[in-house]
Amino acid sequence: MYEEASGQAISLPKSEIFYSRNVQQQTQNSITNILAVQAVLGTGKYLGLPSMVGRSKKATFSFIKDRVWQRINSWSSKCLSKAGREVMIKSVLQSMPSYVMSIFRLPNNLLDEIEKMMNAFWWDHGGANNKGMHWLSWDKLSVHKNHGGMGFKDLAAFNVAMLGKQGWKFQTEPDTLVAKVFKAKYFPHSNYLGSRLGHNPSFVWRSIFSAKVVVRHGTRWSIGDGFGIPIIGDPWIGTGLSIPVTSPVATQLQRYSVGHLIHQGTKMWNEEVVRSIFEAETAQQILDKPLFPQVNVNRSVWKAKKNGHYSVRSAYRLCMEEIVDNSHMRKEEFWCGIWKLKIPPKIKNMVWRVCCECLPTQVRLNRRGVNCPSSCVLCNDPHEDSYHMFFHCGTAVGVWRTAGLWHLIEPLLQRYDDAPEIIFHLLENSVQVQAELFATLLWSIWKSRNLRLWQNVNETNSNIVARAKHLIEDWRFANRKQLMRESQQQNTAAVTLSYAQQGTVSRPGVCRWQRPAHGRFMCNIDASFLVSTNKLGLGMCIRDEEGCFVLAKTMWFSPVCLVDIGEALGLYHAVRWVHD
Ligand SMILES: [Zn+2]
Repeated sequence: MYEEASGQAISLPKSEIFYSRNVQQQTQNSITNILAVQAVLGTGKYLGLPSMVGRSKKATFSFIKDRVWQRINSWSSKCLSKAGREVMIKSVLQSMPSYVMSIFRLPNNLLDEIEKMMNAFWWDHGGANNKGMHWLSWDKLSVHKNHGGMGFKDLAAFNVAMLGKQGWKFQTEPDTLVAKVFKAKYFPHSNYLGSRLGHNPSFVWRSIFSAKVVVRHGTRWSIGDGFGIPIIGDPWIGTGLSIPVTSPVATQLQRYSVGHLIHQGTKMWNEEVVRSIFEAETAQQILDKPLFPQVNVNRSVWKAKKNGHYSVRSAYRLCMEEIVDNSHMRKEEFWCGIWKLKIPPKIKNMVWRVCCECLPTQVRLNRRGVNCPSSCVLCNDPHEDSYHMFFHCGTAVGVWRTAGLWHLIEPLLQRYDDAPEIIFHLLENSVQVQAELFATLLWSIWKSRNLRLWQNVNETNSNIVARAKHLIEDWRFANRKQLMRESQQQNTAAVTLSYAQQGTVSRPGVCRWQRPAHGRFMCNIDASFLVSTNKLGLGMCIRDEEGCFVLAKTMWFSPVCLVDIGEALGLYHAVRWVHD
């Protein structure tokens, strides 16, 4: 039957069968004989996934950890910079478990171990005396780059975001075979969002079920006829609010759906009913939700993305921002000032380390328990921390003077007493070219200090400045094509802006009306939003190639809605109007 339906032949020698322990040996034998395939113990893999998940999840999935470990080892001989390691982690290591994570919720202790391995790989300097020291935990590294982290992945959150995709499919594509199977077994009387874990769940269902909290968080209903959307507990109000199951009306409304609150003929809220059931505030929220006659079918919309479709990336962001909530680890400084510089990545990484206070200066190493002198290798000052090395040491001051930046730095020494503050201030308040030179000089000073410490090389201030300038020039030359493209894009934007400013409309960014091509008409549309009267106004106007008025129309709707919805409605009605 399978062969007839699919047009594919079954290869019997490659096929296997395994039995539950409850099947008697005799029955097993006869089935095996009839099918003429090999009986196995069921511990193999199918399509790269374990076909049986036993009691110890960690043992079942430890092969992922082994693979990550092998990959890291294969790189250990290569001398990778921090920037190189960043690329390896982001493009290779983090994505190794993703296939398995799209089906299974991996145990937290296994994910922890994988994160620890990646963290060790990131910090390993290979040969220096601080080998193996982890200056920041993975949690802190997984904060977004603009908030002080490195933007590495929190694997547990990523796992949930991947599983959410399956849950989202159960919710939005209930007619697929896999959705039907799961529905029949685990949520025959509700949808995925309303499902319960149930009795004796399989590991796969347990995994996908665990992502419900994220899917639930990112979903809102787009209301068609409203029947089938439970009034209680589902996110159908506003942009994804729901009436909690704990609310006083919950028990009476348990069996009713949103459709019962709508005049189906006109597709308007039944205001009388809504106001009689709900307290004033909730009622108003409901009545303020616009209903659109052109939406016929109830549909789950993914609110974390503009196009309404689930994406793992947006679900991950939602997880990190709202569910895991790593806000306490975010540091609100001018981090993007580092990352947007057009200089070699290794320099940006080094500046980032200074600002995270994890550059291995003598004082830092002392604090981490390394037994070494705390004095500056360049001037013997007893306290070599990043503030001294970059802004106080005679060498540094000489370098800033030679490079012509001292007048910017000197006044800041009175205001700030640690290096990150000065760096952020300068990055935020200098022009791009200056900021780039400044960052590269920080790197060059650090380089010079290391040369003295490890190879006993003495450099002059002009050596240090020249190295930085050469590095910037070389890098710009190597990346000239991309830089040119970027600056062209910026120029185009600037030209558009200035063109608009010359026109009759003085608001920046607004273009002047342009004539349509010969023999054509142009229809312009605008929407206005009157919050005080709770109305949305639409205006549309058709003009010919000479700019002469042809036809116009205004419409209004209540309640008022979000700006992009209003503009979209404007387009919709204009197209219908032109069509008529
Ligand atoms: Zn010094």
